[in-house]
Amino acid sequence: MASGGPGPPLGERLGPRSCSGERLGPRSCSGDRLAPRSCSGDRDRDRDRDRERERAGTRSAPAPGRPLTLEREVGVWDTVLLEPLTEQAFIANLHQRYKHDQIYTYISQVLVSVNPYKKLPLYSSDVIRAYRSCSRFELPPHVYAVAEEAYRAVREHNSDQCVVISGESGAGKTEASKLIMQYVAAVSGRAKEVNAIKGQLLQSNPVLEAFGNAKTHRNDNSSRFGKYMDLEFDFKGDPIGGLITNSDLLEKSRVTAQQPCERNFHIFYQLLTGADIQLLKSLKLQRNVENYDILKQGRPLQYETLDDKRDFQVTRRAMDILGLTPDEQQAILRVIASVLKLGNVTFSPVNNIDGSEGCVVDNEYEVLGTSDLLLVSFETLRSALTRRLVTALASDCGSSVACSPVTLPSSAAIYTDLQDACELLHTDTASLQASLTSHTLDGRLDAVTVELSAAEACSARDVLARALYSRLFAWIVMRINETIKPKKHAKRKVLGVLDIYGFEVFERNGFEQFCINFCNEKLQQIFIQLVLREEQEEYVREGIEWTPVDYFNNAVICDLIEKTNQGILSMLDDECLKPGHGSDEGFLSRLNAACSNHPHFSVISDNSSPAHCFRLKHYAGDVTYDVTDFVKKNVDALSRDLSLVMYRCDLPLMKALFPEGNPKRVTLRRGTSASAQFKISLGALMKSLAAKQPHYVRCVKPNDTKVANEFDSDLVRHQVRYLNLLETVRVKRVGFAFRQSYESFLARYKMLSLHTWPSWCGLAAEGVTYLLRDLPISMAEYAFGRTKLFIRSPETVYELEEYRRDR
Ligand code: ADP
Ligand code: MG
Repeated sequence: MASGGPGPPLGERLGPRSCSGERLGPRSCSGDRLAPRSCSGDRDRDRDRDRERERAGTRSAPAPGRPLTLEREVGVWDTVLLEPLTEQAFIANLHQRYKHDQIYTYISQVLVSVNPYKKLPLYSSDVIRAYRSCSRFELPPHVYAVAEEAYRAVREHNSDQCVVISGESGAGKTEASKLIMQYVAAVSGRAKEVNAIKGQLLQSNPVLEAFGNAKTHRNDNSSRFGKYMDLEFDFKGDPIGGLITNSDLLEKSRVTAQQPCERNFHIFYQLLTGADIQLLKSLKLQRNVENYDILKQGRPLQYETLDDKRDFQVTRRAMDILGLTPDEQQAILRVIASVLKLGNVTFSPVNNIDGSEGCVVDNEYEVLGTSDLLLVSFETLRSALTRRLVTALASDCGSSVACSPVTLPSSAAIYTDLQDACELLHTDTASLQASLTSHTLDGRLDAVTVELSAAEACSARDVLARALYSRLFAWIVMRINETIKPKKHAKRKVLGVLDIYGFEVFERNGFEQFCINFCNEKLQQIFIQLVLREEQEEYVREGIEWTPVDYFNNAVICDLIEKTNQGILSMLDDECLKPGHGSDEGFLSRLNAACSNHPHFSVISDNSSPAHCFRLKHYAGDVTYDVTDFVKKNVDALSRDLSLVMYRCDLPLMKALFPEGNPKRVTLRRGTSASAQFKISLGALMKSLAAKQPHYVRCVKPNDTKVANEFDSDLVRHQVRYLNLLETVRVKRVGFAFRQSYESFLARYKMLSLHTWPSWCGLAAEGVTYLLRDLPISMAEYAFGRTKLFIRSPETVYELEEYRRDR
């Protein structure tokens, strides 16, 4: 643990710009900066001296009269230059920079970002201006530099880009994704129409966060879904719209259960705290959060860091800007309110005539007893109570006791929660009640109704609540997409931003961790494909000689998990297809039998772990998974009865949420399992990413207590390993840090040459040859490809930038 004094604002650390808009000075270190000269001996000595200073993290003070540039940068900002490269040195470098509020560090093109947990003066419009039009080598590492590089490639090279942001929960992924969007919005066109689109793109964040984020142990505003958003641009580089991909990764189990000190999704608390009394009344809600079972499990319910009341206004405003009509917003809130109400419905067991266990909605139990006493049929009494026609009952009662409200169980309150849920969704109570407590089996000739036990009814209620919420979330995403989709059909280019949870390893790892880690295996595969393999392939294509790097290709683990008919996911689906959906034990024995010889699978047979576990050797390390509830979470099937009831609700939104309930649909399509759906969504996401040029931001969480100025090296080491950061440095070190077409290189640096400046009109590659001869760069530092020049060390590029500045 350590604390450090704040560094100077970045705005101050940056030098002023020249009038041509070019940034003055990349990594200036001293007044004795070198001008290009031909004596390479001197040059090498100087360079060694600079490197020494760099390693020691010291830089001389700027010469008087020079602009303040980056003298106060500490440590090494591109760890490709770190000597010696060890895990400890890598972490110490991050730590040293973090102490001075220098939270960003490069591994060549990959940005490492350490969460400062405090507001830093790094994001002002001055800083945005500074990064605009600068190359990565000219200014200290910053998420804006990544945004600039990606955006510039879209604008100038007309090629699709994506920024993949990963890291564990609370590491700063969502903040980074918002900074990227904010940067692009700030530097792109300002026409009225473009501004309106930018407003909508930015306003999608508060809505998605209200419905998709929650307070967890690790982050008070944790995104509980994987978000991928494409920003789309026209040929001028102006935003024309966007597309959000909902990857079915919403953590819907949170709707019905939360851990201690965690909360349900923000929108529930926002609504209860922020809605005015009329709105609450129209939604049949009371302000007190304690009244709702699905909100009070976590406790405490209020946190200083969260302002639900204010956030509700922000959410409503954002929905307005996104063009959600008052009716649509009302319908959304009705569904949210119905989930709250549904969560309060409980069931009690009853014995059916045939001796089997059935159940009734809890208050109904009292009705049942009362109907016996009053010698009135249960149905009559129930229907009278639900419709509040108690007085009309007297004539029907067979009992000599006059039917009075006193003899009835506290009548008015009886059906409140279930009935309110039904009124909110515009459906009748009896149908929903019947489909929660019984289940229709569609035989070939006849339909048979089976009563559900109280536990089964509770489970049906939870499945319904989760389905309502997760489908509503998907609908909101679809609705936002409708608004932000580009209106013009012009040819467009895309900058995608992926904000997705990183690799997770806890003491107990369940179905959720399995899905998340599978997702990270797939992302790693893309990383391998694009960064490592393609990089190597580019060298081959360009005819560059180099020593191939050995890397671990994780395709073998992806196969183990996803291979059709043989992978772990298929085995889980097979188990769930068994009558009664099979069991977790059945799934585990299938796995153990089929995979025991796989090099990345371990059967747990020792006493060190519980028997209901298996272990996978992931690219990032070993993880032991507990199979408890894998089957239940994978099926999470809504009964056909409930789908039908939901579809029949008079609220138009419900037809869109439960299309499978349409009786006109002839095929009763089997519900897709959670894991199969996840696999499909992931496949689509990977395909989309693979078609783009990637940029990476790896976020690191410095401590578990969410406080500023605290750096827990053990915690960081864990993440450095799981994010594969050291391996990334190794690969980047053997390769070339920089490559550029001869034309672009010449255009930028020809001013440094006596021969080519200012009017070289021969072949670009030839011009570059002359140019390099004039510069004190060792020949080992560069290589000529077929179409591009390759430069090995980032330091050389920094120096070229310094030379330009000195000219
Ligand atoms: P993740 O998405 O990785 O789970 P978030 O992006 O939500 O994490 O960040 C968690 C919290 O950390 C934020 O709510 C914010 O308080 C803080 N934080 C993250 N990044 C920054 C940053 N660059 N500057 C200041 N605070 C930050
Ligand atoms: Mg997040």
